[in-house]
Amino acid sequence: MPELAYVNGKISSIETAMVPVEDRGYQFGDAVYEVIVSYNGHLFALEEHLDRLERSMGGLQFPHISRETIHSSIHDFFKRAGLLRAAVYMQISRGVGPRSHGFPETRELQVVMTVREVDEKPVKHRAEGTAAITMKDFRWGRCDIKTVQLLPNVMAKQKATESGADDAIFVGDGDVVREATSSNVFIVVDGTIVTHPLTQNILPGITRAVVIDICNDLSIPLEERFYFLNDLYSADEVFMTGTITEVLPVVMIDGNSISDGKVGPISKQLYGALQEKINNL
Ligand code: PMP
Repeated sequence: MPELAYVNGKISSIETAMVPVEDRGYQFGDAVYEVIVSYNGHLFALEEHLDRLERSMGGLQFPHISRETIHSSIHDFFKRAGLLRAAVYMQISRGVGPRSHGFPETRELQVVMTVREVDEKPVKHRAEGTAAITMKDFRWGRCDIKTVQLLPNVMAKQKATESGADDAIFVGDGDVVREATSSNVFIVVDGTIVTHPLTQNILPGITRAVVIDICNDLSIPLEERFYFLNDLYSADEVFMTGTITEVLPVVMIDGNSISDGKVGPISKQLYGALQEKINNL
C-alpha cells in the first residue's frame, strides 16, 4: 500500500481517510499546506518547506506546534510509504469546532497528509515548452501565505485548460506580472534573468530560491524586480519554477510566441543545473 493518508496520526488508505465536517480547512479555507517531493528516497528542501510552513502558520496566528513534531511526522510517514519518488502533501488546519468565523476555543490543529507518486510533467512540455494565458490577479492580498484558499488558482488553471493552454499567469494592477497558478515566473532579457520580488503578492517559492542560488553560483545576472505584461511578451525566454514544475519553459503566451517559440538556452541550462543538484542529494 504505497499511497497513504494520515489524519492526526492515524494512517490509512487515501480512499478511506476522513476529516470531520467542521474542520476549519473544509469550511473556511482556514488551513495552510506544503507539497514536498522526494528524489530517489530523499525529501528535497524539507527544512525550507518547514520554514515556510512555520511562516504561513504564524501569518494566520495558528497556535504553536513544534517543528520537531512536524518534521518527524513528515519523515516517518514518507518512509512508511516506501516510495522513492513521492509527493508528500501536508495540510494543517486551525482545527475542528462549531462553524463560527472567529477562532475556535479548541487550540488543537488538525494535521492531514497524503503521500503519492509524483504526477510528473509531460516530457513534451519539458522538451518543447508550454503555453500560458494571462489573467487578472483576483486573489487575496496575502499570497505569500500558503493557504488552501486556492479557488482563483483553480478557476485560472481551468480557464487555461479550456483555452488550450497549460497554465495561467496572474497579472496585477498596472500590468505587473505576478506568478502562475502553482509556479513562480521568470523572464530572460538580454542575458539577465528577472523575477518578481518577494512581496505579499506572490508565494516565496522554494524552487524560486534554489534557482536564484544556482544563478548566483553560475554568475548568471538576476534581478528581483517588478516587470510588466509587455516585458513578458517581448522576453527572450520565459520559464516557471515550482516543486513539481521544477524549471519549465513557456514558449507561447496569449497565443503569441515567446522569441522564436523554442525552448531557450538559459531555461535548458537552469533545468540541467537543478537536475544536477537533485542527483547530488
Ligand atoms: N506560486 C504558487 C501560487 C504556488 O502554488 C507554488 C507551488 N507551491 C509556487 C509558486 C512554487 O513554489 P514552490 O517552488 O515552493 O513549489
